[in-house]
Amino acid sequence: MSETVSSYDRLMAHLREADLIGTSISVLGWDQETMMPPRGAALRADQIATLSGLYHELRVDQRVGEWLAACEADGALLSDARAAANVREIRRDYDREVLIPGALVRELAQTTVLAQQSWREARERSDFAAFAPTLAKVFALSRAKAECLQNGDSGTLYDALMDAYEPGATAVQIETVFTELRSSLAPLIAEIARVGNEPGVLVRHEAISTPQQAAFNALVAGAVGFDFSAGRLDVSTHPFCEGIGAGDTRLTTRYRDDSFVDSLSSTLHEVGHGLYEQGLPKAAHPGQPLGSAASLGIHESQSRLWENLVGRSRAFWDWALPQARESFGPVLDGYDPGALFRAVNVVEPSLIRVESDEATYNLHIMLRFDLERALLVGDLPVDDLPGAWNERMRQDLGMDVPDDRRGCLQDIHWSMGAIGYFPTYTLGNLYAAQLWDAIVREIGDIDGMMSCGEFAPLLAWLRERVHRFGRTYPAVELCERATGTPLTAEPFVRYLTGKLRPLYGV
Ligand code: ZN
Repeated sequence: MSETVSSYDRLMAHLREADLIGTSISVLGWDQETMMPPRGAALRADQIATLSGLYHELRVDQRVGEWLAACEADGALLSDARAAANVREIRRDYDREVLIPGALVRELAQTTVLAQQSWREARERSDFAAFAPTLAKVFALSRAKAECLQNGDSGTLYDALMDAYEPGATAVQIETVFTELRSSLAPLIAEIARVGNEPGVLVRHEAISTPQQAAFNALVAGAVGFDFSAGRLDVSTHPFCEGIGAGDTRLTTRYRDDSFVDSLSSTLHEVGHGLYEQGLPKAAHPGQPLGSAASLGIHESQSRLWENLVGRSRAFWDWALPQARESFGPVLDGYDPGALFRAVNVVEPSLIRVESDEATYNLHIMLRFDLERALLVGDLPVDDLPGAWNERMRQDLGMDVPDDRRGCLQDIHWSMGAIGYFPTYTLGNLYAAQLWDAIVREIGDIDGMMSCGEFAPLLAWLRERVHRFGRTYPAVELCERATGTPLTAEPFVRYLTGKLRPLYGV
Protein backbone atom coordinates (compact mmCIF):
# COMPACT_ATOMS: atom_id res chain seq x y z
CA MET A 1 0.00 0.00 0.00
CA SER A 2 2.61 2.54 1.06
CA GLU A 3 4.42 2.10 -2.22
CA THR A 4 1.37 2.78 -4.39
CA VAL A 5 0.26 5.70 -2.21
CA SER A 6 3.66 7.13 -2.90
CA SER A 7 3.14 6.51 -6.60
CA TYR A 8 0.05 8.69 -6.32
CA ASP A 9 2.02 11.30 -4.39
CA ARG A 10 4.82 11.24 -6.93
CA LEU A 11 2.29 11.59 -9.72
CA MET A 12 0.73 14.60 -7.99
CA ALA A 13 4.15 16.24 -7.47
CA HIS A 14 4.96 15.67 -11.13
CA LEU A 15 1.65 17.18 -12.29
CA ARG A 16 2.33 20.18 -10.08
CA GLU A 17 5.67 20.67 -11.80
CA ALA A 18 4.14 20.33 -15.26
CA ASP A 19 1.47 22.81 -14.21
CA LEU A 20 4.14 25.42 -13.50
CA ILE A 21 5.03 25.25 -17.18
CA GLY A 22 1.38 25.13 -18.27
CA THR A 23 0.48 28.19 -16.20
CA SER A 24 3.55 30.04 -17.53
CA ILE A 25 2.29 29.43 -21.07
CA SER A 26 -1.03 30.93 -19.95
CA VAL A 27 0.68 34.09 -18.70
CA LEU A 28 2.47 34.44 -22.05
CA GLY A 29 -0.83 33.87 -23.87
CA TRP A 30 -2.55 36.55 -21.80
CA ASP A 31 0.30 38.97 -22.45
CA GLN A 32 0.16 38.23 -26.18
CA GLU A 33 -3.48 39.38 -26.32
CA THR A 34 -3.20 42.39 -24.03
CA MET A 35 0.27 43.93 -23.86
CA MET A 36 2.64 42.48 -26.47
CA PRO A 37 3.63 44.81 -29.33
CA PRO A 38 2.98 43.36 -32.83
CA ARG A 39 6.67 42.81 -33.55
CA GLY A 40 6.96 40.63 -30.45
CA ALA A 41 5.03 37.85 -32.17
CA ALA A 42 8.05 35.97 -33.58
CA LEU A 43 9.81 35.77 -30.22
CA ARG A 44 6.53 34.85 -28.49
CA ALA A 45 5.96 32.04 -31.00
CA ASP A 46 9.41 30.60 -30.12
CA GLN A 47 8.79 30.98 -26.39
CA ILE A 48 5.41 29.31 -26.47
CA ALA A 49 6.55 26.56 -28.85
CA THR A 50 9.51 25.70 -26.59
CA LEU A 51 7.47 25.73 -23.41
CA SER A 52 4.65 23.74 -25.06
CA GLY A 53 7.23 21.14 -26.07
CA LEU A 54 8.54 20.92 -22.47
CA TYR A 55 5.00 20.77 -21.12
CA HIS A 56 4.19 17.93 -23.49
CA GLU A 57 7.37 16.03 -22.54
CA LEU A 58 6.51 16.24 -18.86
CA ARG A 59 2.97 15.04 -19.50
CA VAL A 60 4.03 12.02 -21.54
CA ASP A 61 6.99 11.14 -19.27
CA GLN A 62 7.25 7.36 -19.12
CA ARG A 63 7.09 7.52 -15.32
CA VAL A 64 3.58 8.99 -15.55
CA GLY A 65 2.47 5.77 -17.22
CA GLU A 66 4.18 3.70 -14.51
CA TRP A 67 2.74 5.72 -11.63
CA LEU A 68 -0.70 5.57 -13.23
CA ALA A 69 -0.50 1.78 -13.59
CA ALA A 70 0.48 1.48 -9.91
CA CYS A 71 -2.42 3.72 -8.88
CA GLU A 72 -4.86 1.76 -11.01
CA ALA A 73 -3.84 -1.45 -9.26
CA ASP A 74 -4.33 0.06 -5.80
CA GLY A 75 -7.80 -0.85 -4.55
CA ALA A 76 -7.40 1.11 -1.32
CA LEU A 77 -6.49 4.28 -3.19
CA LEU A 78 -9.36 3.86 -5.65
CA SER A 79 -11.88 3.36 -2.86
CA ASP A 80 -11.52 7.11 -2.34
CA ALA A 81 -13.91 8.54 -4.91
CA ARG A 82 -11.96 11.78 -5.40
CA ALA A 83 -8.63 10.01 -5.94
CA ALA A 84 -10.33 7.54 -8.27
CA ALA A 85 -11.77 10.37 -10.35
CA ASN A 86 -8.36 12.05 -10.47
CA VAL A 87 -6.67 8.83 -11.65
CA ARG A 88 -9.39 8.20 -14.26
CA GLU A 89 -8.99 11.68 -15.74
CA ILE A 90 -5.18 11.70 -15.62
CA ARG A 91 -5.29 8.42 -17.55
CA ARG A 92 -7.59 10.00 -20.11
CA ASP A 93 -5.25 12.97 -20.60
CA TYR A 94 -2.16 10.77 -20.72
CA ASP A 95 -3.61 8.34 -23.27
CA ARG A 96 -4.47 11.25 -25.57
CA GLU A 97 -1.24 13.14 -25.09
CA VAL A 98 1.09 10.20 -25.81
CA LEU A 99 -0.44 9.84 -29.27
CA ILE A 100 0.79 13.28 -30.36
CA PRO A 101 4.48 13.58 -31.37
CA GLY A 102 6.37 16.35 -29.57
CA ALA A 103 7.48 17.86 -32.88
CA LEU A 104 3.84 18.31 -33.90
CA VAL A 105 3.01 19.91 -30.54
CA ARG A 106 5.78 22.45 -31.03
CA GLU A 107 4.94 23.13 -34.67
CA LEU A 108 1.27 23.67 -33.88
CA ALA A 109 2.12 26.01 -30.99
CA GLN A 110 4.50 28.04 -33.13
CA THR A 111 2.19 28.15 -36.16
CA THR A 112 -0.86 29.22 -34.17
CA VAL A 113 0.91 32.07 -32.37
CA LEU A 114 2.02 33.43 -35.76
CA ALA A 115 -1.39 32.67 -37.27
CA GLN A 116 -3.10 34.79 -34.62
CA GLN A 117 -0.89 37.70 -35.62
CA SER A 118 -1.55 37.09 -39.32
CA TRP A 119 -5.31 36.82 -38.64
CA ARG A 120 -5.31 40.08 -36.68
CA GLU A 121 -3.67 41.94 -39.58
CA ALA A 122 -5.83 40.27 -42.25
CA ARG A 123 -8.99 41.02 -40.30
CA GLU A 124 -7.99 44.65 -39.90
CA ARG A 125 -7.66 44.99 -43.68
CA SER A 126 -10.47 42.52 -44.44
CA ASP A 127 -7.96 40.63 -46.58
CA PHE A 128 -8.82 36.93 -46.47
CA ALA A 129 -6.35 36.05 -49.25
CA ALA A 130 -3.47 37.21 -47.03
CA PHE A 131 -4.57 34.87 -44.25
CA ALA A 132 -5.62 31.86 -46.35
CA PRO A 133 -2.19 30.11 -46.61
CA THR A 134 -1.68 30.39 -42.83
CA LEU A 135 -5.18 29.12 -42.15
CA ALA A 136 -4.60 26.21 -44.53
CA LYS A 137 -1.47 25.32 -42.56
CA VAL A 138 -3.35 25.44 -39.24
CA PHE A 139 -6.02 23.11 -40.62
CA ALA A 140 -3.39 20.76 -42.08
CA LEU A 141 -1.57 20.52 -38.73
CA SER A 142 -4.86 20.13 -36.87
CA ARG A 143 -5.79 17.34 -39.21
CA ALA A 144 -2.44 15.67 -38.55
CA LYS A 145 -3.11 15.95 -34.83
CA ALA A 146 -6.62 14.54 -35.25
CA GLU A 147 -5.18 11.60 -37.20
CA CYS A 148 -2.79 10.82 -34.32
CA LEU A 149 -5.60 10.99 -31.80
CA GLN A 150 -7.98 9.01 -33.92
CA ASN A 151 -5.65 6.00 -33.71
CA GLY A 152 -6.78 5.52 -30.16
CA ASP A 153 -10.39 6.30 -30.90
CA SER A 154 -13.08 4.93 -33.16
CA GLY A 155 -14.72 8.34 -33.77
CA THR A 156 -14.20 10.82 -36.59
CA LEU A 157 -11.33 13.28 -37.01
CA TYR A 158 -13.60 16.05 -35.79
CA ASP A 159 -14.63 14.07 -32.71
CA ALA A 160 -10.97 13.50 -31.90
CA LEU A 161 -10.40 17.27 -31.72
CA MET A 162 -13.69 18.16 -30.02
CA ASP A 163 -12.88 15.62 -27.30
CA ALA A 164 -10.24 18.02 -25.95
CA TYR A 165 -12.91 20.66 -25.30
CA GLU A 166 -16.02 18.62 -24.54
CA PRO A 167 -14.86 15.17 -23.44
CA GLY A 168 -17.02 12.39 -24.82
CA ALA A 169 -19.13 14.59 -27.11
CA THR A 170 -19.48 13.53 -30.75
CA ALA A 171 -20.47 15.43 -33.87
CA VAL A 172 -23.45 13.10 -34.28
CA GLN A 173 -24.78 14.04 -30.83
CA ILE A 174 -24.16 17.71 -31.48
CA GLU A 175 -25.99 17.51 -34.79
CA THR A 176 -29.02 15.97 -33.09
CA VAL A 177 -29.11 18.74 -30.47
CA PHE A 178 -28.61 21.43 -33.12
CA THR A 179 -31.38 20.06 -35.35
CA GLU A 180 -33.82 20.08 -32.43
CA LEU A 181 -32.77 23.57 -31.47
CA ARG A 182 -33.00 24.93 -35.00
CA SER A 183 -36.54 23.58 -35.41
CA SER A 184 -37.60 25.38 -32.20
CA LEU A 185 -35.74 28.64 -32.77
CA ALA A 186 -36.32 29.22 -36.49
CA PRO A 187 -40.13 29.74 -36.19
CA LEU A 188 -39.65 32.05 -33.17
CA ILE A 189 -37.06 34.15 -35.01
CA ALA A 190 -39.28 34.27 -38.12
CA GLU A 191 -42.33 35.35 -36.10
CA ILE A 192 -40.37 38.09 -34.39
CA ALA A 193 -39.07 39.29 -37.77
CA ARG A 194 -42.59 39.25 -39.20
CA VAL A 195 -44.17 41.40 -36.47
CA GLY A 196 -41.15 43.64 -36.63
CA ASN A 197 -42.14 45.71 -33.60
CA GLU A 198 -38.87 46.28 -31.85
CA PRO A 199 -39.30 45.91 -28.10
CA GLY A 200 -36.81 48.69 -27.56
CA VAL A 201 -34.00 50.53 -29.20
CA LEU A 202 -30.36 49.73 -28.64
CA VAL A 203 -28.86 51.82 -25.92
CA ARG A 204 -26.81 54.61 -27.46
CA HIS A 205 -25.92 57.54 -25.26
CA GLU A 206 -23.48 60.41 -25.10
CA ALA A 207 -19.90 59.34 -24.67
CA ILE A 208 -18.89 57.70 -21.40
CA SER A 209 -15.13 57.50 -21.03
CA THR A 210 -13.35 54.16 -20.84
CA PRO A 211 -12.01 54.76 -17.28
CA GLN A 212 -15.56 55.54 -16.11
CA GLN A 213 -16.93 52.40 -17.75
CA ALA A 214 -14.03 50.33 -16.40
CA ALA A 215 -14.79 51.48 -12.87
CA PHE A 216 -18.45 50.56 -13.32
CA ASN A 217 -17.58 47.14 -14.76
CA ALA A 218 -15.34 46.51 -11.77
CA LEU A 219 -18.13 47.55 -9.42
CA VAL A 220 -20.55 45.05 -11.01
CA ALA A 221 -17.90 42.31 -11.19
CA GLY A 222 -17.16 42.80 -7.49
CA ALA A 223 -20.87 42.89 -6.61
CA VAL A 224 -21.51 39.49 -8.21
CA GLY A 225 -18.53 38.00 -6.37
CA PHE A 226 -15.40 38.28 -8.53
CA ASP A 227 -12.35 38.50 -6.25
CA PHE A 228 -10.02 41.24 -7.47
CA SER A 229 -7.33 40.24 -4.99
CA ALA A 230 -7.05 37.09 -7.13
CA GLY A 231 -7.87 38.54 -10.52
CA ARG A 232 -7.69 41.43 -12.98
CA LEU A 233 -9.85 43.08 -15.62
CA ASP A 234 -8.03 44.52 -18.65
CA VAL A 235 -8.72 45.44 -22.27
CA SER A 236 -8.36 43.34 -25.44
CA THR A 237 -9.87 43.34 -28.94
CA HIS A 238 -11.54 40.03 -28.13
CA PRO A 239 -12.67 39.69 -24.56
CA PHE A 240 -11.50 36.51 -22.85
CA CYS A 241 -10.81 34.91 -19.49
CA GLU A 242 -7.48 33.28 -18.73
CA GLY A 243 -7.64 31.19 -15.59
CA ILE A 244 -3.92 31.10 -15.04
CA GLY A 245 -3.87 29.24 -11.74
CA ALA A 246 -4.68 29.48 -8.05
CA GLY A 247 -5.00 33.13 -7.08
CA ASP A 248 -4.63 34.47 -10.63
CA THR A 249 -7.62 34.80 -12.96
CA ARG A 250 -7.34 37.37 -15.76
CA LEU A 251 -10.36 38.86 -17.53
CA THR A 252 -10.52 41.26 -20.43
CA THR A 253 -13.30 43.30 -21.97
CA ARG A 254 -13.62 46.04 -24.58
CA TYR A 255 -15.19 49.46 -24.72
CA ARG A 256 -17.26 51.63 -27.02
CA ASP A 257 -17.98 55.04 -25.62
CA ASP A 258 -21.60 55.26 -26.83
CA SER A 259 -22.77 52.01 -25.20
CA PHE A 260 -21.78 51.01 -21.68
CA VAL A 261 -24.17 48.06 -22.04
CA ASP A 262 -21.95 46.40 -24.68
CA SER A 263 -18.93 46.48 -22.44
CA LEU A 264 -20.89 45.47 -19.37
CA SER A 265 -22.33 42.43 -21.08
CA SER A 266 -18.88 41.30 -22.34
CA THR A 267 -17.58 41.86 -18.84
CA LEU A 268 -20.37 39.86 -17.20
CA HIS A 269 -19.68 37.04 -19.65
CA GLU A 270 -16.00 36.89 -18.75
CA VAL A 271 -16.78 37.37 -15.06
CA GLY A 272 -18.92 34.22 -15.30
CA HIS A 273 -15.88 32.34 -16.60
CA GLY A 274 -13.75 34.00 -13.93
CA LEU A 275 -16.07 33.02 -11.07
CA TYR A 276 -15.83 29.42 -12.21
CA GLU A 277 -12.02 29.63 -12.37
CA GLN A 278 -11.92 31.17 -8.90
CA GLY A 279 -14.31 28.52 -7.58
CA LEU A 280 -12.28 25.54 -8.82
CA PRO A 281 -10.18 23.94 -6.06
CA LYS A 282 -6.90 24.76 -7.81
CA ALA A 283 -4.83 25.50 -4.73
CA ALA A 284 -5.63 22.07 -3.26
CA HIS A 285 -5.24 20.28 -6.61
CA PRO A 286 -2.64 22.11 -8.74
CA GLY A 287 -2.41 20.72 -12.24
CA GLN A 288 -4.86 17.95 -11.37
CA PRO A 289 -8.18 17.18 -13.03
CA LEU A 290 -9.88 17.75 -9.64
CA GLY A 291 -8.81 21.40 -9.85
CA SER A 292 -9.74 21.82 -13.54
CA ALA A 293 -12.90 22.76 -15.44
CA ALA A 294 -15.26 19.89 -16.28
CA SER A 295 -15.51 20.91 -19.95
CA LEU A 296 -15.73 24.03 -22.07
CA GLY A 297 -19.51 23.56 -22.34
CA ILE A 298 -19.74 23.75 -18.55
CA HIS A 299 -17.33 26.71 -18.60
CA GLU A 300 -19.51 28.51 -21.11
CA SER A 301 -22.62 27.73 -19.07
CA GLN A 302 -21.15 29.85 -16.29
CA SER A 303 -20.41 32.79 -18.57
CA ARG A 304 -23.77 32.68 -20.35
CA LEU A 305 -25.60 32.34 -17.06
CA TRP A 306 -24.16 35.62 -15.74
CA GLU A 307 -24.26 37.40 -19.10
CA ASN A 308 -27.79 36.39 -20.10
CA LEU A 309 -29.88 34.76 -17.39
CA VAL A 310 -28.70 37.44 -14.95
CA GLY A 311 -27.55 40.35 -17.15
CA ARG A 312 -30.50 40.31 -19.55
CA SER A 313 -33.14 39.98 -16.84
CA ARG A 314 -35.48 42.72 -15.69
CA ALA A 315 -34.53 42.11 -12.04
CA PHE A 316 -30.84 42.74 -12.77
CA TRP A 317 -31.60 46.12 -14.38
CA ASP A 318 -33.78 47.16 -11.44
CA TRP A 319 -30.55 46.99 -9.45
CA ALA A 320 -27.98 47.91 -12.11
CA LEU A 321 -29.51 51.05 -13.61
CA PRO A 322 -29.43 53.06 -10.35
CA GLN A 323 -25.81 51.91 -9.93
CA ALA A 324 -25.01 53.03 -13.48
CA ARG A 325 -26.68 56.39 -12.89
CA GLU A 326 -24.56 56.94 -9.84
CA SER A 327 -21.42 56.13 -11.85
CA PHE A 328 -22.26 57.94 -15.09
CA GLY A 329 -24.53 60.81 -14.07
CA PRO A 330 -27.13 62.54 -16.27
CA VAL A 331 -26.02 60.75 -19.48
CA LEU A 332 -28.54 58.06 -18.55
CA ASP A 333 -31.45 60.36 -17.82
CA GLY A 334 -34.42 59.18 -19.78
CA TYR A 335 -33.70 55.46 -19.33
CA ASP A 336 -35.66 53.30 -16.96
CA PRO A 337 -35.00 49.64 -16.04
CA GLY A 338 -37.83 48.47 -18.29
CA ALA A 339 -36.34 50.28 -21.30
CA LEU A 340 -32.91 48.78 -20.64
CA PHE A 341 -34.42 45.33 -20.20
CA ARG A 342 -36.14 45.68 -23.58
CA ALA A 343 -33.05 47.12 -25.21
CA VAL A 344 -30.79 44.24 -24.16
CA ASN A 345 -33.32 41.75 -25.52
CA VAL A 346 -33.70 43.04 -29.06
CA VAL A 347 -33.75 40.07 -31.46
CA GLU A 348 -32.34 40.91 -34.85
CA PRO A 349 -30.16 38.86 -37.19
CA SER A 350 -26.66 40.31 -37.24
CA LEU A 351 -23.34 39.67 -38.94
CA ILE A 352 -21.22 39.32 -35.83
CA ARG A 353 -21.57 36.34 -33.50
CA VAL A 354 -20.41 38.05 -30.33
CA GLU A 355 -22.87 40.90 -30.84
CA SER A 356 -25.83 38.67 -31.63
CA ASP A 357 -28.88 38.16 -29.45
CA GLU A 358 -29.72 35.00 -27.53
CA ALA A 359 -32.09 33.65 -30.20
CA THR A 360 -29.96 34.05 -33.31
CA TYR A 361 -26.64 33.36 -31.54
CA ASN A 362 -26.92 29.62 -31.93
CA LEU A 363 -27.42 29.91 -35.71
CA HIS A 364 -23.95 31.47 -35.87
CA ILE A 365 -22.57 28.45 -34.03
CA MET A 366 -24.31 25.93 -36.29
CA LEU A 367 -22.79 27.62 -39.34
CA ARG A 368 -19.28 27.42 -37.87
CA PHE A 369 -19.79 23.81 -36.79
CA ASP A 370 -20.70 22.76 -40.34
CA LEU A 371 -17.95 24.76 -42.03
CA GLU A 372 -15.11 23.70 -39.74
CA ARG A 373 -16.00 20.03 -40.18
CA ALA A 374 -15.89 20.48 -43.95
CA LEU A 375 -12.58 22.38 -43.73
CA LEU A 376 -11.00 19.73 -41.52
CA VAL A 377 -11.72 16.78 -43.78
CA GLY A 378 -10.97 18.76 -46.95
CA ASP A 379 -14.53 18.87 -48.34
CA LEU A 380 -14.25 22.63 -48.26
CA PRO A 381 -10.94 24.06 -49.57
CA VAL A 382 -9.75 26.99 -47.43
CA ASP A 383 -9.85 29.31 -50.45
CA ASP A 384 -13.60 28.67 -50.81
CA LEU A 385 -14.35 29.58 -47.19
CA PRO A 386 -15.56 33.17 -47.76
CA GLY A 387 -18.04 32.07 -50.42
CA ALA A 388 -19.38 29.21 -48.31
CA TRP A 389 -19.61 31.46 -45.27
CA ASN A 390 -21.51 34.19 -47.10
CA GLU A 391 -23.90 31.69 -48.65
CA ARG A 392 -24.77 30.23 -45.24
CA MET A 393 -25.27 33.71 -43.75
CA ARG A 394 -27.81 34.40 -46.50
CA GLN A 395 -29.56 31.07 -45.97
CA ASP A 396 -29.58 30.96 -42.17
CA LEU A 397 -29.79 34.60 -41.15
CA GLY A 398 -30.89 36.38 -44.30
CA MET A 399 -27.81 38.59 -44.15
CA ASP A 400 -25.54 39.78 -46.94
CA VAL A 401 -21.95 39.81 -45.77
CA PRO A 402 -20.32 43.04 -46.99
CA ASP A 403 -16.70 42.05 -46.29
CA ASP A 404 -14.70 39.20 -44.76
CA ARG A 405 -13.89 41.24 -41.68
CA ARG A 406 -17.57 40.95 -40.80
CA GLY A 407 -17.68 37.45 -42.27
CA CYS A 408 -15.28 34.55 -41.98
CA LEU A 409 -12.46 36.65 -40.48
CA GLN A 410 -14.41 37.75 -37.41
CA ASP A 411 -13.43 35.01 -34.96
CA ILE A 412 -10.00 34.25 -33.53
CA HIS A 413 -10.64 30.52 -32.92
CA TRP A 414 -9.41 28.89 -36.12
CA SER A 415 -6.19 30.91 -36.07
CA MET A 416 -5.58 29.46 -32.60
CA GLY A 417 -6.15 25.94 -33.91
CA ALA A 418 -9.31 25.75 -31.78
CA ILE A 419 -11.27 23.45 -34.09
CA GLY A 420 -14.20 21.61 -32.51
CA TYR A 421 -14.54 24.40 -29.96
CA PHE A 422 -17.57 26.30 -31.30
CA PRO A 423 -20.23 23.70 -30.36
CA THR A 424 -19.33 24.21 -26.68
CA TYR A 425 -20.87 27.69 -26.91
CA THR A 426 -24.29 26.33 -27.72
CA LEU A 427 -23.91 23.54 -25.17
CA GLY A 428 -23.12 26.30 -22.67
CA ASN A 429 -26.41 28.06 -23.46
CA LEU A 430 -28.30 24.82 -22.89
CA TYR A 431 -26.48 23.94 -19.67
CA ALA A 432 -27.02 27.50 -18.36
CA ALA A 433 -30.79 27.41 -18.88
CA GLN A 434 -31.06 23.99 -17.28
CA LEU A 435 -28.99 25.08 -14.26
CA TRP A 436 -31.16 28.18 -13.98
CA ASP A 437 -34.30 26.03 -13.71
CA ALA A 438 -32.77 24.20 -10.77
CA ILE A 439 -31.58 27.49 -9.20
CA VAL A 440 -35.07 29.02 -9.38
CA ARG A 441 -36.55 25.82 -7.94
CA GLU A 442 -34.11 25.69 -5.05
CA ILE A 443 -33.24 29.28 -4.19
CA GLY A 444 -36.74 30.66 -4.50
CA ASP A 445 -37.15 34.36 -5.19
CA ILE A 446 -34.03 34.85 -7.26
CA ASP A 447 -35.54 37.91 -8.99
CA GLY A 448 -36.17 39.55 -5.63
CA MET A 449 -32.55 38.95 -4.66
CA MET A 450 -31.08 40.22 -7.93
CA SER A 451 -33.16 43.37 -7.88
CA CYS A 452 -31.53 44.21 -4.50
CA GLY A 453 -28.05 43.34 -5.77
CA GLU A 454 -27.89 40.16 -3.68
CA PHE A 455 -25.93 37.70 -5.79
CA ALA A 456 -24.25 35.69 -3.03
CA PRO A 457 -26.91 32.93 -2.82
CA LEU A 458 -26.66 32.38 -6.58
CA LEU A 459 -22.87 32.18 -6.53
CA ALA A 460 -22.97 29.90 -3.47
CA TRP A 461 -25.30 27.53 -5.35
CA LEU A 462 -22.95 27.41 -8.35
CA ARG A 463 -19.93 26.85 -6.11
CA GLU A 464 -21.68 24.02 -4.30
CA ARG A 465 -23.20 22.27 -7.33
CA VAL A 466 -20.70 22.94 -10.10
CA HIS A 467 -17.42 24.70 -9.25
CA ARG A 468 -16.04 22.66 -6.37
CA PHE A 469 -16.17 19.37 -8.29
CA GLY A 470 -13.64 20.27 -10.99
CA ARG A 471 -13.47 17.26 -13.30
CA THR A 472 -14.75 14.79 -10.68
CA TYR A 473 -17.69 13.99 -12.97
CA PRO A 474 -17.97 14.11 -16.76
CA ALA A 475 -19.92 17.21 -17.90
CA VAL A 476 -23.17 15.38 -18.65
CA GLU A 477 -23.12 13.70 -15.25
CA LEU A 478 -22.24 16.94 -13.45
CA CYS A 479 -25.26 18.57 -15.11
CA GLU A 480 -27.53 15.69 -14.19
CA ARG A 481 -26.36 15.72 -10.57
CA ALA A 482 -26.81 19.49 -10.30
CA THR A 483 -30.21 19.68 -11.99
CA GLY A 484 -31.75 16.23 -11.57
CA THR A 485 -32.16 15.60 -15.30
CA PRO A 486 -29.93 14.88 -18.31
CA LEU A 487 -29.16 17.80 -20.64
CA THR A 488 -31.89 18.73 -23.12
CA ALA A 489 -32.65 21.84 -25.17
CA GLU A 490 -36.10 22.18 -23.58
CA PRO A 491 -35.25 24.53 -20.66
CA PHE A 492 -33.36 26.86 -23.02
CA VAL A 493 -36.20 27.02 -25.55
CA ARG A 494 -38.75 27.51 -22.76
CA TYR A 495 -36.65 30.26 -21.15
CA LEU A 496 -36.20 32.10 -24.43
CA THR A 497 -39.78 31.85 -25.68
CA GLY A 498 -41.03 32.73 -22.16
CA LYS A 499 -39.02 35.94 -22.25
CA LEU A 500 -39.33 36.96 -25.92
CA ARG A 501 -42.97 36.18 -26.73
CA PRO A 502 -44.40 38.66 -24.21
CA LEU A 503 -41.76 41.26 -25.17
CA TYR A 504 -42.67 41.05 -28.86
CA GLY A 505 -46.33 40.15 -28.44
CA VAL A 506 -46.02 37.02 -30.59
ZN1 ZN B 1 -17.20 32.40 -23.14
